[in-house]
Amino acid sequence: MTLQESVWSETESPRIKSYTLINFHDLPQIQKLSEQQQFEMEVVGNVLPFKANNYVVEQLIDWNNIPNDPMFVLTFPQKEMLQQKHFEKMANVLKNGADKKEINNIANEIRLQLNPHPAGQLELNVPTLKDGTKLYGMQHKYKETCLFFPSQSQTCHAYCSFCFRWPQFVAMDEMKFAMKEGEQLVQYLTEHPEISDVLFTGGDPMIMKASIFEKYIDTLLEADLPNLKTIRIGTKALAFWPYKFLTDNDADQTLGAFEKTTNKGLHLAFMAHFNHHKELSTGSVKAAIKRVRETGAQIRTQSPLLAHINEDADVWAEMWRQQVKLGCIPYYMFVVRDTGAQHYFGVPLVKAYEIFRNAYKQVSGLGRTVRGPSMSATPGKVMVDGIVTINNKKVIVLKFLQGRNPEWVSTPFFAEYDENAIWLDDLKPAFEEKFFFEDELSQKYSGARKLDKS
Ligand SMILES: *Cc1c(COP(=O)(O)O)cnc(C)c1O
Ligand code: SF4
Repeated sequence: MTLQESVWSETESPRIKSYTLINFHDLPQIQKLSEQQQFEMEVVGNVLPFKANNYVVEQLIDWNNIPNDPMFVLTFPQKEMLQQKHFEKMANVLKNGADKKEINNIANEIRLQLNPHPAGQLELNVPTLKDGTKLYGMQHKYKETCLFFPSQSQTCHAYCSFCFRWPQFVAMDEMKFAMKEGEQLVQYLTEHPEISDVLFTGGDPMIMKASIFEKYIDTLLEADLPNLKTIRIGTKALAFWPYKFLTDNDADQTLGAFEKTTNKGLHLAFMAHFNHHKELSTGSVKAAIKRVRETGAQIRTQSPLLAHINEDADVWAEMWRQQVKLGCIPYYMFVVRDTGAQHYFGVPLVKAYEIFRNAYKQVSGLGRTVRGPSMSATPGKVMVDGIVTINNKKVIVLKFLQGRNPEWVSTPFFAEYDENAIWLDDLKPAFEEKFFFEDELSQKYSGARKLDKS
């Protein structure tokens, strides 16, 4: 990286300042918008999670490009994110000067219609200890990797408007996954020698104070589990608050915990969430990436494909090129889930495949580590692998990147060509009655009602 690019001033050590429904009107950039626009944001922000911060507002959003700027759409509520009937319902409640409780009731009523826990996360993937304890702070869906939701990481440095984790941020408490103790995690890993990877997720685990994060890491490292090979951290902190790794009080301690992990001989896989190359453009994010890599951690990147934000092959190609240049490894392109504002962000599978291909073919082999477009659906991660014509029939080629049954992985299967399908359960098998995995899925997991309820 050239000096020019990597400069972030040592004196640039901002404190995070959050913008939410309560104070976003104070922003001079927002005051330039019409009252109607501000009201629309308020309506949507009362249903979907909304939180921006000073880094996003001052360094990522191009306020000369409102309302189309991708970083603006990523973090600020837009009218069309709600279906019209829901928008009007909330708008009326607000116009009538309803009290907090009433607003909240209507908000919850609308949220419940937005499929708040897709892929049956609540029941289907919750693991159990041998003594019968249910671990609501964990999910174990694919053999080698279990997800861990520390109770202190149920929030983020800012919220992505498309986020499928949104029920966690809007105080619908019973939907929260949380677990206090790292010990139960260690117990579960001991009982399951097939697990090699623990993935810290949330919210954003990098919102945790380093002292708490380090305690979890210490608990894992001190347990000396022979099966544990990799600790993964799923985070958007590099994009939303790079100072977490630069100038925050606990930056050094956080990086120290990474280093401890790699010194112990484990892989620290930093799963960084970037939606647009704009997020890779500031001096601070580049410096933060450098510091994370200096701990021996490896940064892999992932993002959903999102209408209004990155629905453009050139944006992806540029993002992957920048990532490779900064020493990051492109990993996954996801299809946006069937929840929340999918009608706004959703991209049909056929189009997603075209965007992926047109981006993939532009980058060097080092960027072609990326896989996708992939749906995290009930039976597994299903990738759209091509569009072909077989015996005069146009079909979509699919394959599992991950399966509830590992035997399903990497077996091609075929769906009828459908330009409008946006999720696995919109697709019909091309040559059979059912997809090859469907019987087994419904036998093994009677809780799996439909393909989309993972
Ligand atoms: C994506 C995912 C993982 C990790 O899968 P990899 O392909 O190993 O990155 C683990 N658990 C769940 C539930 C997932 O959705
Ligand atoms: S950072 Fe991740 S968990 Fe947080 S709002 Fe964005 S997508 Fe959701």
